[in-house]
Amino acid sequence: MRIWGSRFLVVLLFVTWIVAGCGERSGEVERNRSAHSGEVPDSWVARRESMVRDQIWRRGVQDPEVLRAMRAVPRHLFVPQSIRGRACDDTPLPIGYDQTISQPYIVALMTELLDLERGERVLEVGTGSGYQAAVLAMIVDSVYTIEIIEPLARVAMSTLEELGYHRVRVRIGDGYAGWEEAAPFDGIIVTCAPRDIPPPLVDQLAEGGRLVIPCGDLWHQELLVVEKKDGEIRRKSVLPVRFVPLIGPHGEE
Ligand code: SAM
Repeated sequence: MRIWGSRFLVVLLFVTWIVAGCGERSGEVERNRSAHSGEVPDSWVARRESMVRDQIWRRGVQDPEVLRAMRAVPRHLFVPQSIRGRACDDTPLPIGYDQTISQPYIVALMTELLDLERGERVLEVGTGSGYQAAVLAMIVDSVYTIEIIEPLARVAMSTLEELGYHRVRVRIGDGYAGWEEAAPFDGIIVTCAPRDIPPPLVDQLAEGGRLVIPCGDLWHQELLVVEKKDGEIRRKSVLPVRFVPLIGPHGEE
């Protein structure tokens, strides 16, 4: 009698789950919204925790706001469904159109190098999946991001919208020219590599602002931090990197 009673309970729970809707994406979004508000822990929260500890903090990124943002943003919802299980791996991943979502450590490092504060305004060149923009939106009030490949921009717009990142404004176009109407920016981050620093981005940097940018060709690129102080430009090389090239009229074909 007891066994039948418990079997009935299992069947009832299963039917309730079906009726309540088990659509993977909406369910995942809901769970991650809960994760944002800290209500219901899920396995992705634990995976992000390990990602932050093992790949980011251990390599020296220490800014508490950056670590908090990397723990909070549901990275798996920014990668294609077919490779979602690898979302927290220590590597860039393909997002279509020969483009990638950057390795978690590089996202965290570049965000830390921007040295941001809450009220500041940031421009990103290379929206891609929208993930880096979401991380920035956890730290500052205004994020502007530009993507040259329209279908990628459209997917990023809807992901950001669906997950509630309303502080992010996405534009389709060539980021080489920056976003003049919204300038000056306290921080500018470029997630594709031009050969040289685009002059419009330096012009659109506020006094005291920081530009974090990979520069070089396919074989040799360096991650640079460019600072504008008292009208002067200082540049510092941080480490060798490999990013997809900046494309468009000022970049690779
Ligand atoms: N930040 C992205 C993310 O979080 O998913 C990853 C960006 S991916 C490494 C580089 C992106 O830069 C690609 O989506 C690419 O299409 C874009 N890109 C390349 N050239 C560009 C340009 N001239 N203007 C704007 N975006 C560009």
